Amino acid sequence: SVMVGRSVRRRRAWRRVVRLLEELEEGCATPVGRLRQVVDAMAVEMHAGLASEGGSKLKMLLTYVHELPTGKEKGTYYALDLGGTNFRVLRVQLGGQRSAIIGHDLDRQPIPQNLMTSTSEELFDFIATLLKDFVEREEKGPITSQQESRELGFTFSFPVKQTSSSSGYLIKWTKGFAVEDMVGRDVSECLQQAISRKGLDMRVAVLINDTVGTLALGHYDDEDTVAAVIFGKGTNACYLERADAIIKCQGLLTTSGGMVVNMEWGNFWSSHLPRTSYDIDLDADSPNPNDQGFEKMISGMYLGDIVRRVILQMSQESDVFGPVSSKLHVPFILRTPLMAAMHEDDSPNLTEVARVLKDTLEIPDAPLNIRKLVVNICDVVTCRAARLAAAGIVGILKKIGRDGSGGIAGGKMKVGSKSKMMRRTVVAVEGGMYTNYTMFREYLNEAMEEILGEDVAPYVVIKTTEDGSGIGAALLAASHSASPTVDIE
Ligand code: BGC
Ligand code: MG
Repeated sequence: SVMVGRSVRRRRAWRRVVRLLEELEEGCATPVGRLRQVVDAMAVEMHAGLASEGGSKLKMLLTYVHELPTGKEKGTYYALDLGGTNFRVLRVQLGGQRSAIIGHDLDRQPIPQNLMTSTSEELFDFIATLLKDFVEREEKGPITSQQESRELGFTFSFPVKQTSSSSGYLIKWTKGFAVEDMVGRDVSECLQQAISRKGLDMRVAVLINDTVGTLALGHYDDEDTVAAVIFGKGTNACYLERADAIIKCQGLLTTSGGMVVNMEWGNFWSSHLPRTSYDIDLDADSPNPNDQGFEKMISGMYLGDIVRRVILQMSQESDVFGPVSSKLHVPFILRTPLMAAMHEDDSPNLTEVARVLKDTLEIPDAPLNIRKLVVNICDVVTCRAARLAAAGIVGILKKIGRDGSGGIAGGKMKVGSKSKMMRRTVVAVEGGMYTNYTMFREYLNEAMEEILGEDVAPYVVIKTTEDGSGIGAALLAASHSASPTVDIE
């Protein structure tokens, strides 16, 4: 009877856990009808954010980038990319012919954790030091003041209220950064001052968001590129908007032409988003509650932590994971790359899942059905993320009349000939979630097709760029530099 009691208990525990998984699946469900509601909500919020300052949770920030690189850019430019996990410095040589980026050198360093919460002076001194070392290495020798002034594109991947294409102040931090004295300060000025302190002769020619760099490189490579999206530690999108659609700054802009708008879509919110108790808790425990709601459902910083929360709940409500591991209480301990590794474990015994559970969460000896359960959790969380991301992209296409819903054909579209009226539309994408997490990428592409339908989907191309956030900054520095070939006597 002891044996019977134990197996009854085990069955009851298992049933409880299966119920929690079902609840998670229901809570995260993204049928295509719901995705269409998200598409519409995105387009509506874009309109609202363009209509007035503070009109929407979507800030729809002006970039003052009116033109994307043409291909004529020529010369040597530096770029500096600060935003997520790594800090990068680049030197890009442009040959003056489209797609003739002669070469680029790159230095990549992880951002020390303590600098993410230090003072602005410490952060920028660190950056300027690395920048100077890089320049010295590239130019092979100590820096002299005789050389021609260097032009720099600065990619700063946080919400910035631009005052020009080369200046702007930080609105707020995201992605775990918290250098408090930076908020409200001019980002370029902080960098320019740190550069001067190091005695480096370099000018910040443009200040851009990573999405804008990605769009610049995407457009440089393929002129049909109209939008760019980042799926990395954070998430965001930008796109090319007509000047007359940016109502909130009418008068400031000439009615012809357009401008790149940095949406800051990580802060998008809609009641149509499928939200669970895990999301609510994650938000409440985060340093920025009520902020970046869309980002917290989609980006690499958060997905692993949603999974951790689900496993914790299951472990607390049953004993299928053994005694509750103290590691399950540690925020962000389950990083998204580990989650991806578990999700994509195709070994018959799920040895990778077992390894992560043991090494990272200190849950040893999880039986096969529990390992499968964990794979399921990862699948639900990533599937929701990727499908919502797809809905966001289609939302942008809808706003600019490229979703095939009739806008571009102006009602003259003949039934059955929809595809003839469609223009090829390219969306540049960058970030580890998309490039390194196959399941995320596949779910995203699948959802795009589902939402757009088979007539329209073939005209929408998602293209990955590489180092666009950095190379794009150099391209924009080139097209925005005052006197690209000036020699200093
Ligand atoms: C930031 C954006 C950035 C995105 C991707 C978000 O957290 O707010 O400015 O583009 O991350 O790096
Ligand atoms: Mg980046």
